Amino acid sequence: MTKITRMQLLRGDIKGKNNPFRPPWAIPEEYFVDFCTRCDKCVDACFDELIVKGRGGFPQMDFTRGGCDFCEDCLNVCETSALKKIPINSEAALASNTLVSKNRAEVSAPESYLPPWHIKANIDLTNCLSMNATICRSCGESCDDEAIKFDLKLGGIAEPKLNIEHCTGCGSCFTVCPVHAVTLTPITLMNESVAQEVSGV
Ligand code: SF4
Ligand code: SF4
Ligand code: SF4
Repeated sequence: MTKITRMQLLRGDIKGKNNPFRPPWAIPEEYFVDFCTRCDKCVDACFDELIVKGRGGFPQMDFTRGGCDFCEDCLNVCETSALKKIPINSEAALASNTLVSKNRAEVSAPESYLPPWHIKANIDLTNCLSMNATICRSCGESCDDEAIKFDLKLGGIAEPKLNIEHCTGCGSCFTVCPVHAVTLTPITLMNESVAQEVSGV
């Protein structure tokens, strides 16, 4: 099983910078590639066809097709725990596979789970049409979580303001932005102390 390197820890880059976005509720990448059998069940289960077969045959998200509504269809068909709801503060238990071997039904407090993933949107204001006197509210209109509001300025400018706390990383704003001003960024899943416990360094 691949261990987290010290360099990844120092960078705060537990998942690795170049890893693709896995389906929601994917366990950390180091474990995902071991547990995923590339069965394609999650690919077939996604009604909006947002999950595609990626490098090595592993599933990954294609946010150019739309945003994820977290319907849990992919989660429900995954039989290997590669996609699994993880209780809060239990990341370290993955190291010994205790969580992975645990039946999902044994955990009965949904509100205590980690979010389906740790992805956040980011808006490059330099490229944003609305910052350049062209009317556009596409990202805000696509956001069901109302994480993007527009701040009206002088000169016909409306600045999109992203509330990170409200952002679920669903990807809808990324899909609709006509000038690719929106990017999606993974944020570190585990803090350093937990990561050290997992990696044993
Ligand atoms: S359903 Fe689970 S095991 Fe099958 S490809 Fe998707 S993540 Fe991998
Ligand atoms: S969709 Fe893109 S161009 Fe339009 S307001 Fe949002 S960030 Fe700006
Ligand atoms: S701001 Fe976040 S929650 Fe809103 S559409 Fe974009 S990714 Fe989804």
